[in-house]
Parts: sequence; C-alpha cells; structure tokens
Amino acid sequence: MGKKKRGTMKVIKFGGSSVSDSSKIKAVVEIILSSRENRFVVLSAMKGITNTLIASARAAEAGDRSYKEQYEEVETRTYGALKELVREGTLYETTKETLQSMLEEYHDILHGVELIRECSLRSLDLIMSFGERLNCTIVSAYMNDAGHKAEYIDAREIIRTDSSFGKGSVDFPRTYELIRERVRNVNGVGIITGFIASSAQGFTTTLGRNGSDYTASIIAAGVEADVCEIWTDVDGVLTADPRVVPGAKVIDQLSIEEAMELSFFGAEVIHPSTLIPTVEKEIPVIIRNTMNLSAPGTVISGMKPKRTAPITGIASIDEVALINVEGGGMIGMPGVASRIFTSLAEEDVNVIMISQASSEHSICIVCRQSEAERAKSRLEKDLADVIASKRIQKIGVQIDLELVAVIGDNMKGQVGLSGRLFSALGDSQVNILAIAQGSTEKNISLVIEKKQRETALNAIHRTFLES
Ligand code: ADP
Ligand code: ASP
Ligand code: MG
Repeated sequence: MGKKKRGTMKVIKFGGSSVSDSSKIKAVVEIILSSRENRFVVLSAMKGITNTLIASARAAEAGDRSYKEQYEEVETRTYGALKELVREGTLYETTKETLQSMLEEYHDILHGVELIRECSLRSLDLIMSFGERLNCTIVSAYMNDAGHKAEYIDAREIIRTDSSFGKGSVDFPRTYELIRERVRNVNGVGIITGFIASSAQGFTTTLGRNGSDYTASIIAAGVEADVCEIWTDVDGVLTADPRVVPGAKVIDQLSIEEAMELSFFGAEVIHPSTLIPTVEKEIPVIIRNTMNLSAPGTVISGMKPKRTAPITGIASIDEVALINVEGGGMIGMPGVASRIFTSLAEEDVNVIMISQASSEHSICIVCRQSEAERAKSRLEKDLADVIASKRIQKIGVQIDLELVAVIGDNMKGQVGLSGRLFSALGDSQVNILAIAQGSTEKNISLVIEKKQRETALNAIHRTFLES
C-alpha cells in the first residue's frame, strides 16, 4: 500500500471508556472527523457491555433466568444510543432492524445456553462479539446520518486466528491479505469492530480481554498506516496505575521494550500484544486522552528516549501465586528445571516469572492464581519419582500475591538501584517473597503479598519518580 502517495494515514482506536454513552460517542466522532488522516477507526463495545454479555452467558449456563435482565440492559443501552444519535427516518429504521436482528440472535444463543446448561469458550466468544458489533453499527449509522461517509467493517472478515477460543492466536499472513483485499474500496471512514476475529472454520473468536488495542495495531500494520493512535481515558501511559498511585505522571516517550514490559506486567492501558504488529512495520503507537485533547499523549516508537529518572515506570499483576519446588536433592542435578518447565508448558500454565536461589535449593515459579492448583498437581504427578526419592521435598503454593515490576531502559548498569529499591520497600515494611532480574537489566520483578500492593507501589514511586 503506497503510503507516500496517499499522504499520512492513521488508524485510531477508541476504548470502551471513550464510548460509554451517546454524548461520549459524539465527542469521539468529532475527533474522527477532525482530520482526513483518520481513515480507519477501531471501536470497543460501550463501557461495561462486554462484562454484561459475559454475566448473561454465565447466568444462562447456570439456568439462572436473571440473564434476561442482562439481555435487557444490553438492549436498552443499544436502542437508547441509537435514538439519541440517529434521527428518525429511513436510516434509523434500517439500522434499528440490523440491531434488532443482532439482539435476537444474542437472545437465541442465550436461550440455547440455558437449555443445554453449557457455555463453551467458543459460545462465549460469539456472545462477547455482540458488544463491538452493536456499537460499530450505531456509530457508522450516526456518522452517515450526519452526512459523513462511514462503512461498518466486521473484523471477523479480516482478522484470522486459530481456534484458541477466548484468546485467538493471529494468522498474520492471511490476516494481512484479508485486510488488504477488504480495505481497497472502503466508502469513507472504515468503522472496524475491535476485539473480534474468526477462525479458518468460520467461527467467531476474540483476541482476549482488552483486545481492541491489538485489533488497532493489526489493522495499522495491515494497511501500512503511518500512525496507530489509541484513545482512552487517561493522558497517556503513566508511571504507575493512577488508581493506585495518585502521584503517577504521564511518560512522554516510551521505547518499545519499555512499553511491552509495562503492558505485560499489568499496565492495562494497552493490551500486551499491541506492539507486536506495529514494531515490525515501524509504525509508532500514540496513546491519547479522548477527554483531554490538549494532552499530547505518550509516543511509543523505536526512538530511545533520553531520561534522567533511574526508572521509567512500575506495573503490577494481581492474583498471582508462587509455586515453590524445594529440595536439597536438586543441587547439581541437571534437568530438573527443564522437567518442571516442560510439565508446566504441557499443562498450559503461563509462567510469569522464575527465580532460583544460587544454592539451587528451590525453584520459585510465579503463575496466575487460577492456574496454581492445576500446576501443582501436574508437577506432583510428573515429578513423582524425584519426590519419592526425596530429592524434592515439597511443592508448595502460596496465593494472594502481587507481582510488581520496576521497568526502565535506564536501569541497566545503575549500581545501587536494587539496594535503593529494597530499602524503600523495607522502610515501608513490605515483605519481599521472591525477586527476579532480567539479564537485560531493564526490569526487576518482585513478589509481595497482595495486601501490600498500594504501600509497595507508592513507596517505589516516591523513591524513584517523585523526587
Ligand atoms: P479503554 O477502555 O480505553 O481500553 P482501559 O480501561 O482498558 O481503557 O485502559 C485505561 C486504564 O488503564 C486507565 O483508566 C487506567 O486506570 C489504567 N492503567 C493502569 N495502569 C496504567 C498506566 N501505567 N498508565 C495509564 N493507565 C493505566
Ligand atoms: N470489549 C472488549 C473487552 O472489554 C475489548 C476491549 O475493550 O478492548 O475486553
Ligand atoms: Mg482497554
């Protein structure tokens, strides 16, 4: 796609927080129309709708008829937004019919789930897809009604994943082909459903919760856009989660590695996979605030920002567990670690962090709390011989923990940084249960008790980012 010939082309994405109701949708459309560069728009479902869709599916599965109330909430918000945005007339009527048939389908699926008392991940993906589909239908109708050409694009036509329902893995070559074919003749601005995709067999899939950011970057890479903008409800990527650390500040520029680490370690402002497609095509990603147009936002690009602060930001993941494989007999015994990780991989347990004491007396593995019991049982089964011979004494699981990651390109080679970090935590009475430092020295991760999260994050922030 000849980007030089076409001038600057942007893909812009608005999250659920930016499209929670009709007045916010109007503000979003003003942003879309403020520049001819905004050619493709990716939208999430209206705020809260995905959660309501999931709740309705779970209720129907349990045979709890309260799913009808959740259905009605989706219906009321959908028709409410349509009424407030599109004037009575032919377009209103045809859009209402489209929405009605989507809502009927959603209702029928819920009824089916209720009858069979089962909601597979595949069915749940289909149910969740209505949020983005309803919202994009309304927004494109609103734009057309106001005289601005816009075309609804269902991302299931252009993003192809495997059949890992709940979090599909993208088939990039096929996806890029589909995107190129589809966008060739878009009438006006393309309004694309975030979050959803489809498998080669034609089933609806999703890219994982919060996945619309990833949709935007996939589209940006597919159309070879010059910029991918992610519009949300904060001024950019902040030095910490502003809901936990009131002193968090906007980071003007982030390197790709820093942004990837921050999102991987829980900064939900961007989905962790967002930067994968854009990095390859060298497309900068900019995070901006829908509610504050004067804020320039955060630019994430291949440039290495110059900084003075020793660290760039802090993020954290809650609901993690620590699995401790302990035993004097592991000392000098090659292959135990590899057996542990093979077992966990086969069990589909996502290992977030590993640390091993230099005595080799124990190996600590951090994973999601929801996966911990499964991980423990699998390890006990697969390592039964080493346990029987007492070379491993115990596989323990500790829950209700938080993994805190301190991140920054500047951290490399800074003597004494860990010392300051641990003193800051010690002075605030935070107990550290495990530590890991990546060999790139751009990240120190530590595990603490969940209840100390706020104290720990604020102590680290004060020490490194507020002086
Ligand atoms: P959207 O609906 O636009 O996708 P999200 O709720 O997914 O928005 O992400 C934005 C939110 O992420 C912010 O409101 C903020 O509370 C939270 N957040 C967590 N960590 C950070 C961080 N480091 N920087 C900015 N926002 C963060
Ligand atoms: N609507 C989806 C969710 O709530 C995707 C997104 O908002 O990015 O997870
Ligand atoms: Mg989001």
